[in-house]
Amino acid sequence: MDKAFETVWADCLEIIKDIVEWQHFKTWFEPIKPVELKGKVLTIQVPSQFFYEYLEEHYVALLAKTLKRELGKEARLEYRIMVDSGNSRNKPLTMDVPAHGYKSFTNNEMDFPLIINNPVKNPFVIPGLKKMQIDPQLNAAYTFDSFIEGDCNRVSRRAGKTVAEKPGGTSFNPLVIYGGVGLGKTHLAQAIGNDVKRLHPNKVVLYVSSEKFINQFIDHSRNNAINDFIHFYQLIDVLIIDDIQFFNRAEKSQDAFFSIFNHLHQSGKQLVLTSDKSPKDLEGVQERLLSRFRWGLSADLQAPDYDTKMEILDTKMKSDGFAVPREVVKYIAYNINSNVRELEGALISLLAQSSLNKREIDLELAKKVLRNFVKSSSKEITIDAIQKMVCEYFGVPYDKLLQKTRKREIVQARQITMYLSKAFTKNSLKTIGEHFGGRDHTTVIHSCQTVKDLMDTDTLFKESVLELQQKVQLAAM
Ligand code: ADP
Ligand code: MG
Repeated sequence: MDKAFETVWADCLEIIKDIVEWQHFKTWFEPIKPVELKGKVLTIQVPSQFFYEYLEEHYVALLAKTLKRELGKEARLEYRIMVDSGNSRNKPLTMDVPAHGYKSFTNNEMDFPLIINNPVKNPFVIPGLKKMQIDPQLNAAYTFDSFIEGDCNRVSRRAGKTVAEKPGGTSFNPLVIYGGVGLGKTHLAQAIGNDVKRLHPNKVVLYVSSEKFINQFIDHSRNNAINDFIHFYQLIDVLIIDDIQFFNRAEKSQDAFFSIFNHLHQSGKQLVLTSDKSPKDLEGVQERLLSRFRWGLSADLQAPDYDTKMEILDTKMKSDGFAVPREVVKYIAYNINSNVRELEGALISLLAQSSLNKREIDLELAKKVLRNFVKSSSKEITIDAIQKMVCEYFGVPYDKLLQKTRKREIVQARQITMYLSKAFTKNSLKTIGEHFGGRDHTTVIHSCQTVKDLMDTDTLFKESVLELQQKVQLAAM
């Protein structure tokens, strides 16, 4: 038995090694330790939550497929996350979570970079595709109007507007926008895209994250279709690539990007790039690319000053249609110094708290919310607490949630409860199942997947889940 799990994992690695680029293999697979095999469930230990999330996002398809090859159809994967590596007095703290991206691994989605024996369909390149049919992947909410200008972002915002007016026709090519997390890079880059579409409806705009670009590239290289990939990108008039810092380590993707860049630039097409660091500090990006980035303009985003924070908060309240006492707005603006995302988050938490507790928004409530907000260490919430919240929200009696009724509202409430329990507690799938009248873990997996699928297709459903999610988050503060 002891040997078995190690052998199984070693065999998996043999396969994975051939598929994944060497550096990715070293980064993401070598640090994994197999820890046990119970029936068909292999548990692997990963060094951190981040690791787990990365694997789930990028490699779950590959892991699932390889594991099934080794252990048969019933194979399951579980992660043991090292939360704390411990010391001489304290034992290491770990947390077990199942691989939940599992079900979708046969999916042909581009976001699953590595699908063995499975021809990958490219959602962009459709036979006979006409240029105009390319979906720019833009979010209409990200506009220049909603992007408040301040000293912290004036140069970038104005450069963005200039580029949107004359894409490819200014010296700001490429335009590189850089700055820390939550300072508005994605918003601004998308605003450029939206404005180009508004001013030049015939221009082909595409927004893509560098991660997605890399994944697509890897898919195409597996299918010997790198030329298709490059040709596709060469059709674009305004190419926006978000978070290019993730290009580090992706040597071959950078080669492809280099060809695309040159072609677009020479043909007078516009490139807009964002990065969390200034191009000169970007590590792992080829010098030939960096030198091209210097051809255009690099402009930064800084943390907003007090006046800009006030204006952002005011605009947000106005657009969402609510009002908060002046002293409270000032208090938030004064106390949140990290970034705009947190600023917005604080305001939203405050609103949520006030509506949950049916309490007026005043300075006292703001202080309470911000104390939690800034500290951001959360207390553990229980499955029972989540069950109560969901029952209350949907007006479903608690005992019905546990019984075997097939009524649609009850089934959905139960599935959402399982989904939230999985997301917000550290309980195993098994424990979660037990809290629902002794259902087994596969029911829980199925429920979580159903909720995710429904959220993708049903907006009303999604809104309910998000609202509940926020209640749970707040209760955990
Ligand atoms: P980044 O990509 O740099 O991490 P985002 O673009 O996602 O940051 O911005 C985080 C949040 O802050 C978004 O909701 C965005 O709309 C908002 N935001 C950032 N800067 C501004 C601004 N100047 N005016 C209004 N909202 C902003
Ligand atoms: Mg971003």
